[in-house]
Amino acid sequence: MSKQINVALIGNPNTGKTSVFNALTGLNQKVGNYPGITVEKKEGICKLPRGVKAHIIDLPGTYSLNASSLDENVVIELLLNKNDKDFPDVAVVVSDVENLKRNLLLYTQIKDLEIPTILVINMADRMAYKGISLDLDYLEEHLKTKIALVSTRKKQGIDRLKNLIFNYKDLSIDHCVDLTEIDPTYFDNLKKAFPNQLLYKLWLVITQDVNFGKTDRNEIDAVANFKTKSKIDLKRLQQKETIKRYQFINNVLKKGQTIDIASAKDLRMKFDRILTHKIWGYAIFFIILLTIFQAIYDWSSVPMDFIDSAFAAMSEWTKTQLPQGAFTNLLSEGIIPGLGGIVIFIPQIAFLFLFISVLEESGYMSRVVFLMDRIMRRFGLSGKSIVPLISGTACAIPAIMATRNIESWKERLITILVTPFITCSARLPVYLIIISLVIPEGRFIGLGYQALTLMLLYLIGFGTAVISAYILNKVLKIKSKTFFVVEMPNYKLPLPKNVAITVLEKTKSFVFGAGKIILAISIVLWFLASYGPGENFNDAEKITKKEYANQHLSAEELHQKIESHKLEHSYIGLTGRAIEPLIRPLGYDWKIGIAIVSSFAAREVFVGTLATIYSVGSDQEETIKNRMAGEINPILGGPLFNFASGISLLLFYAFAMQCMSTLAIVKKETNSWKWPILQLTIMSSFAYMVALIAFQILK
Ligand code: GDP
Ligand code: MG
Repeated sequence: MSKQINVALIGNPNTGKTSVFNALTGLNQKVGNYPGITVEKKEGICKLPRGVKAHIIDLPGTYSLNASSLDENVVIELLLNKNDKDFPDVAVVVSDVENLKRNLLLYTQIKDLEIPTILVINMADRMAYKGISLDLDYLEEHLKTKIALVSTRKKQGIDRLKNLIFNYKDLSIDHCVDLTEIDPTYFDNLKKAFPNQLLYKLWLVITQDVNFGKTDRNEIDAVANFKTKSKIDLKRLQQKETIKRYQFINNVLKKGQTIDIASAKDLRMKFDRILTHKIWGYAIFFIILLTIFQAIYDWSSVPMDFIDSAFAAMSEWTKTQLPQGAFTNLLSEGIIPGLGGIVIFIPQIAFLFLFISVLEESGYMSRVVFLMDRIMRRFGLSGKSIVPLISGTACAIPAIMATRNIESWKERLITILVTPFITCSARLPVYLIIISLVIPEGRFIGLGYQALTLMLLYLIGFGTAVISAYILNKVLKIKSKTFFVVEMPNYKLPLPKNVAITVLEKTKSFVFGAGKIILAISIVLWFLASYGPGENFNDAEKITKKEYANQHLSAEELHQKIESHKLEHSYIGLTGRAIEPLIRPLGYDWKIGIAIVSSFAAREVFVGTLATIYSVGSDQEETIKNRMAGEINPILGGPLFNFASGISLLLFYAFAMQCMSTLAIVKKETNSWKWPILQLTIMSSFAYMVALIAFQILK
């Protein structure tokens, strides 16, 4: 077995942990979740001299070891559990040179756990600008450790950090603060009761309400609260401890750090004033959102078209080059289009995250949160939910992935759950064709009815999302600390490397996470659409040829008739027929039923499926429309697509959860099947109810 040093990167949010992590590991990293919870876990490998490797974990940002959120629990549980396979041989506490005092609190706590701890003082490039200078020797001596002064931006200090990690055995494990000084009797007694345990660790177990693995909490509790200490007393002791830590830090910094304010003061305040302004702030944000949205739409359409035709060509090629048979069909009609259905999302995901990470990196996102929080919070959402909600108009997949930036689990979950209500671009072809069929062309105060209907559908989607969020906020009983942005980070030019890694990682996590599910379901759907029971399916060609024997159809027309017959008798076709009694009260027939069932692959498939059933080429839009207009309702008579059934269908598509890719990404992001299944059932039953009511009233 090769030697591996376990390294944990710990620090306050925004100190540059992830940047240090990226600098150490480059692309040798993987992102997962901590078991059972949805806190992101990033780990990677850093190569050190002489073949030694360091296994590095980028822990969630935390202000102290006093846990108040899921993220912070992760940190404490790891640090207290020596048996955890990730238990660090050495902790690297990352601090930001501009906020040393606040950052060092966590440092002193970790140091007191007797874990060898290296202090990284990051953002060294800001020192001159802020007029800060440090006496590193003095700091190392009094903080009882080695310090790496780093600028990930200027790529400075990383080699020294690697060196310190390599030599971690030389680090001292002396404490910063002596607890017994705070309350000698109490702590001496505690020490006597558990002579083999680390005092500070005991103290953390007593004061924190987290899961500590093997440490027997009850036993400690029984001894620790003996006679003398009430809950309030303990809280007071904790406060004393914090004060003590700050005294220690202040003392060290008084000599170790000098700040010359004369050289500081910057543009930042001016920027802040505009960007969080009551009017300009919103206006600027709105313009930025529109640009992003437009970009996801426009810029991705080129690569998306390319991907689309590339996979179509690949499919065609396989079909013509490989011997005919079930396997070739599976490959050319099931697997290749299935893979295409995954790859097609990559441009949108990449562009969205390019923008998001630039916004985050630059420090602007914190201003957005500040700006939007007040409004969004009323609905149980976070200021950051606005980005997923808006991106949802392009596609729910990247939008749901974008919720990762929301720190509070509850707000994030709510955003994930309501985003699919937003009108995504896949609904557009369905809306457009139905609207053109059932909504008259007239005008109302200068606006076309058809355009108004489309706009209404967008508003309905957005409104439903917001209202559902409000309800979910009341219903969901999830304890989750709302994240307060204590201070706004400085504006910074985004580090291209950080941006690139984010984009790459999100894309990878989509392709390998949700991609598997999407591929599996598309193969199943393909199978259901291409196979059927009995001779009606198997002899489709014979039957159709016989039926149209004396009609002199062209080869093309005959082929379309055969395809239509096949689809009708395939498993999907049979499902469509089977659900007819269920959807008849909504004003639909079995053909629409088939189109709805196959829409589960992607909503826009609706039009193509109808085209196949009506045996017309799917590229002949006018013909499809004419065929649709000519359809007769088998029960009620009159046109099948009339105002009532049209509105019913529009509303059904607005609300129903008909997208397997979205379900796959929700599964991936929530780490459980519970939420996508709830989403599927609740949204679809709601859609059914609304469509039913609409049709019954309007018919
Ligand atoms: P984390 O929240 O601790 O993981 O911090 P990140 O690595 O995401 O960095 C937070 C912000 O600090 C980002 O905008 C980075 O671009 C920026 N940043 C990171 N390292 C440096 C640095 O050395 N100098 C400067 N000026 N900014 C940095
Ligand atoms: Mg980070």
